[in-house]
Amino acid sequence: MDDEKRKLKALSDIASIDITLEFKEILQNILKIACETINANSATIILVDEETDEVRMAASYGLGQDYPERVHEAARDAGVPLTYGPSGIVLKTGKYYIVQNAFEEPRGKPWLHLTKELGFSSILFTPMKRGSKVIGLLNVYMARVHRFSEDEIDFVTIAASQAASIVHNSRMCSRLINNILELEQYEGRLEEKVKNAYKELYESEVKYRDLFEEADDPMYTLDTGGYFQTINNAGLKALRCTKEYVIGSHMSKWLTPESLIVFMELLQKQISGENQFEQPVTLEIICKNGEHRLSEIRTRIIREGDRITGVHGIARDVTEKKKLEQKIREYHERLRKSCEDLIEADRIKTEFISNITHELLTPLTSIRGFTELIYDETTGKVNDEQKKSLDIILRNSDRLIRLIKDLLDISQLEKNKFGMRFGLVSIGDVISKCMQDMQPQAKYKEITITRDIKPLPRIWGDGERLTQVITNLLSNAIKFTPQKGTITITAKESQNEVKISITDTGIGIPHDQLSRIFERFYQIDGSNSRKYGGAGLGLSICKSIVESHFGSIWAESNGNGSTFNILLPKLECIKN
Ligand code: ADP
Repeated sequence: MDDEKRKLKALSDIASIDITLEFKEILQNILKIACETINANSATIILVDEETDEVRMAASYGLGQDYPERVHEAARDAGVPLTYGPSGIVLKTGKYYIVQNAFEEPRGKPWLHLTKELGFSSILFTPMKRGSKVIGLLNVYMARVHRFSEDEIDFVTIAASQAASIVHNSRMCSRLINNILELEQYEGRLEEKVKNAYKELYESEVKYRDLFEEADDPMYTLDTGGYFQTINNAGLKALRCTKEYVIGSHMSKWLTPESLIVFMELLQKQISGENQFEQPVTLEIICKNGEHRLSEIRTRIIREGDRITGVHGIARDVTEKKKLEQKIREYHERLRKSCEDLIEADRIKTEFISNITHELLTPLTSIRGFTELIYDETTGKVNDEQKKSLDIILRNSDRLIRLIKDLLDISQLEKNKFGMRFGLVSIGDVISKCMQDMQPQAKYKEITITRDIKPLPRIWGDGERLTQVITNLLSNAIKFTPQKGTITITAKESQNEVKISITDTGIGIPHDQLSRIFERFYQIDGSNSRKYGGAGLGLSICKSIVESHFGSIWAESNGNGSTFNILLPKLECIKN
């Protein structure tokens, strides 16, 4: 084969190198063909990395496997880059470069030891070009000093540009393979994801089914025609029948005609969007065994896009609840009625007490008046024995009159007709008057009443009613204090109130009764009324009077008698 043909065959061999081979193998094949064609001893390929622009010797032929690594090592040792050598010039200019004698090349110094060891003299550096871009170099080495002919230079230059195409294609090919690999991995992941999604869907479907089936409340779906499509166990229990019996049956089978109308209206409202919040309705259900039960139902329309495909429903049996509600309503009504009856009975009683007391008071007052006249001997002389009897009549009529007046006060209190005449009142005067009035009673039991009254401002109140309060408290104190006891009345003012206290040395009041004694008709010991007289009304009247003065009253007892305290607001406090 002549030289020309050999070169052409070599170029065609380079062009048909299998680009799916290992990259290094491709490069070595190129180098081998190039060397064999021009009888060169060895060759190398230097490539520029596409991404980093880093320059590396990628392959060598005829120089030993470790040659590329040794070249880099030598550059590192000399502290220069690979482009320090002639390859730097070719990369920069894009033109071939010939080193005639490697031992004389100043730029080859870092690699001189390798040149010596491997024994080459002339080197041809040719650019590997893609268009105008230099992507690397193909260099051929001759052991002897050699003058490269133009043919040789042309051949190596063409071989280098073919090598550039192959490198480019091979790079594209490996990129494509990487992409395919990535795609495959992505597909694998996608498949995994779809599988997982299906699994989750299946699990949630199972979960939903379980929830649906085992829910405490009846649940169902109807199609648009009102026929049952699904129903859960609670629903079957509520209708007292089996699934086969319900599925496919029409809603009307299970509702009273009235409830069916209500149900249809509810659906209508939901379709029109009026009952968006799923307000429940109570329907009367007819179970399979004929039993009627009340159920509270919520429904929701099922839509697929714009199309309505059915109705979801959830129900709750409210039969017992409704029965209970009805009972409560009836009970409430009865209670209201009894309350009204009681109010009426109380009104009649108050009316009666008010009438009867008036009826009693008039004759009693005249009995007392005439007895007093006889006692005072206005109607003629009476002997001592008769006077004693008349005295008993007088005291007993006083007690009766007191009792009747108390009853009258109570009935007026109940009618809210406790007429008050308010004005400026001197508490000191009220106390003096009460003491004076009660003196005979106290004297009768040899009880001493002392007073300790500081100068007091006048208060705003009803003098007569306040006198009634103090008299009542004094009367009780005398009543419940044994012979020769003492009663002390004190009165003083504080910042906002006037405080009056009446302390006795009587029988005292148990601690747990201190507030109860102010209740109407309350007496600590029922036998008191027989022993001491009274009807348990006095203190409750006192409390009402004090409270209508915006004041307060309370009792204290330490076992050695009792103290009754009254607080009345001062005039300026009422004004404010
Ligand atoms: P009564 O007319 O029965 O005295 P009150 O309402 O005035 O009714 O008093 C109610 C009860 O409070 C009395 O029955 C008595 O048990 C008790 N009580 C009232 N004042 C005193 C007191 N100073 N000492 C002891 N007990 C008293």
